[in-house]
Amino acid sequence: GAQGQDDLLAGLNPQQLEAVTYRGPALLIVAGAGSGKTSVLTRRIASLLRAQEAWPSQILAITFTNKAAGEMRERVEAIVGDAARGMWISTFHSACVRILRREAQQFGFTKSFTIYDSGDSRALIKRLVKQHEADAYGLTPGAVQSRISKLKNELSDADAYARQANMSDPAERIFVELFADYQRQLQKANAFDFDDLIGQTVHLFRAFPQVADTYRRRFRHVLVDEYQDTNHAQYALIHELTRPVTGESPDPYASNGMMIFEPETTPELEGASLTVVGDSDQSIYAFRGADIRNISEFERDFPGARVVLLEQNYRSTQNILSAANAVIGNNFDRKDKKLWSDKGDGDMIVGFTGYSQHDEAQFVADEVEVLHRAGMPYSEMAVFYRTNSQSRALEEIFIRSAVPYKIMGGTKFYERAEIKDALAYLVAVANPADEMAVRRILNKPRRGIGDVTETAIARFAEEHDITFRQALSVPDQLGFGPKIQAGIAQLDAVLAEATEIMLPASGEVPAPTAVADGLSVLLSKSGYLDALRASRDPQDEARVENLDEFVAVARDFARNNPDGTIVDFLTEVALVSDADDLDDESGSVSLMTMHTAKGLEYDAVFVTGVEEDLIPHRISAGEPGGPQEERRLFYVGITRARKRLHLSLAMTRAQFGEVSVAMPSRFLQEIPAGLIDWRQSPGDVNSRGGMQSRALNARRGGGFGGSGSGDRFGVKQLPGRDSLKPLSTAMDKFPNRVTAKMRDNGDLELAAGDRIRHSDFGEGRVDAVTGEGAKRIAHVRFDSAGQKKLLIKVAPIEKI
Ligand code: ATP
Ligand code: MG
Repeated sequence: GAQGQDDLLAGLNPQQLEAVTYRGPALLIVAGAGSGKTSVLTRRIASLLRAQEAWPSQILAITFTNKAAGEMRERVEAIVGDAARGMWISTFHSACVRILRREAQQFGFTKSFTIYDSGDSRALIKRLVKQHEADAYGLTPGAVQSRISKLKNELSDADAYARQANMSDPAERIFVELFADYQRQLQKANAFDFDDLIGQTVHLFRAFPQVADTYRRRFRHVLVDEYQDTNHAQYALIHELTRPVTGESPDPYASNGMMIFEPETTPELEGASLTVVGDSDQSIYAFRGADIRNISEFERDFPGARVVLLEQNYRSTQNILSAANAVIGNNFDRKDKKLWSDKGDGDMIVGFTGYSQHDEAQFVADEVEVLHRAGMPYSEMAVFYRTNSQSRALEEIFIRSAVPYKIMGGTKFYERAEIKDALAYLVAVANPADEMAVRRILNKPRRGIGDVTETAIARFAEEHDITFRQALSVPDQLGFGPKIQAGIAQLDAVLAEATEIMLPASGEVPAPTAVADGLSVLLSKSGYLDALRASRDPQDEARVENLDEFVAVARDFARNNPDGTIVDFLTEVALVSDADDLDDESGSVSLMTMHTAKGLEYDAVFVTGVEEDLIPHRISAGEPGGPQEERRLFYVGITRARKRLHLSLAMTRAQFGEVSVAMPSRFLQEIPAGLIDWRQSPGDVNSRGGMQSRALNARRGGGFGGSGSGDRFGVKQLPGRDSLKPLSTAMDKFPNRVTAKMRDNGDLELAAGDRIRHSDFGEGRVDAVTGEGAKRIAHVRFDSAGQKKLLIKVAPIEKI
């Protein structure tokens, strides 16, 4: 190995060694679960840095969750220390947000854009479905949302879709209208939905090659974990990032809005080196557009790519691997690979069949206690299930048995109504153009503002060509009675006060605690907290506690990100994903879905609800490839275990709103009987309850239907020039705080010694300038207002 790399390469097997040390344009590492794919990726980054083959800033690594990103960063830092600072290790979504925050103004967004999570886009789509009376055509909000999402993952848009749809079908026409309208509303709100974060970044790169070149020059090493679960948009993004830099930037609009492809010239700079790792047996996100072909066709896409196979599993004992091999071997259309371990057979897999899900949960809780008493920390144990609703019974029993646990699924917290309200208040400050956020808080707490008033405000805004938020700043002109007028004035005032704290109009640098302070002001002065406290509903008490917790999250954020702005905070919150637990207190058992479990490992794993209709899930029966995907999911679940694997099921289950008789999953029968030690087998339960025949009767067959996939390689037409122009509104008609924020001193040259004039603080002298880009700060000693720190970009200052 290279100098000083011995410790880094120690203990690697020959294939892993090759994967870490190979240097070339493209490298594909394919291997089964637990064979060290993620470890190899981490060491590869460390090796590039250690050998000084790359600066940290030249590295972009993509992981599937924020948690995985954090772990990878920590490990690299542990190996190379401070030299790791400046790397981008993040999820696709986080990386794209970072890019879009820098570049969004290129196509009509501002850097404080809002990120719509799936609940937000659902709410918007619901409104549009109602407006277009699309329900009558069978277009439910849910169906519209998933179709739009699917199309976006294929980089399609309303225009492209319309060109190949059957437009004589009224339902199709309405869908196209809805899609286009949805996109217009997002742009108007200065918002991206989750799929847009990736898709619009790809469009940005294609429409502005010089922007793309900046990132191509910067990222010389692109590494992607869990490549089997990338969708087409993510695939295209990686392609865009790793293309050679030609140094030529053709006008993308030269020919009628159609993109001209770059001429074949000698590249000024080779494409970045690309490393991807994946396991097609663990592809479990096809329902979200993941395309297994991205891995199987890698060698075609990147000619000359080196392929490394890893075979040895370092995670699990052989009994666990034998079960995994046996199960996954039932999938056809896959390359046969067998996991092996030199850890020995280990303990047998433990099986248990409960009479009910409570019985099953009790078994899990008891077993957890046995393991814990034998010395296994709670944090080394995990319980998996197929659907979130299964966690209820487990939680009940865990609480009763005093087993400490945490639910992985941080999003749940942020899906609560009161947290959504608090977030809407923050968004109304950070991105006043986001009409949906402003509308959400209009009557929360009650201000006597109903639908009629809301519609009237919207109409007023439209007539005067101002935003909904700006209309609230002129309550006396809206023509409402005194009570409503006062309510609107109060909301306007509290938003303005919080804006002053978090984004001071003076351009002064906000206090480090500004986000938490502003949030407290919003919640208290709006009357939101008082209304909850005055309520007799015990639920409202819990809501107050949740809001306290949220303010605490904001305070933590301030501690961890001293320069963090409200936009940074909202970004972080928006990107919290299932695997990112809120509080990372160790010492508790982790509960999560099998989807969330991907990439993780635990000493002891409990896979629960191993029943037909759950795993494989009954919705999968009608999907092409559905049962095979379910088998991969089960395979992911069992390969998380290092030493102890428990498979459990219940013979009756309250599920889907009824108590039903459950059947053991077909996957159980695929595991060689000799590997499982049944504490209580399905047979034990049947012989007592005589359930077998009833269970058989209850078993349902699934039909095969199917939805065709869209045009995967459809060429994307770029949005025309007009749609890329910034939205212009006649804001100057209503000058207020919101417009004052639009100021941009981006190019103002300032240096120590300069004299400046500030619209509030008067004249002063610049002592120093620190920071970079949008965060450049002037330290100013004002003649009468004292010392201030000002964000140069937005402060109302001029040089004199
Ligand atoms: P998955 O497919 O589940 O994501 P993976 O292929 O990414 O798994 P890792 O998580 O990287 O596998 O590794 C599995 C375990 O094996 C980890 O605990 C890792 O530290 C360990 N490991 C990997 N390579 C070696 C090795 N050469 N020697 C010892 N332990 C190793
Ligand atoms: Mg991994």
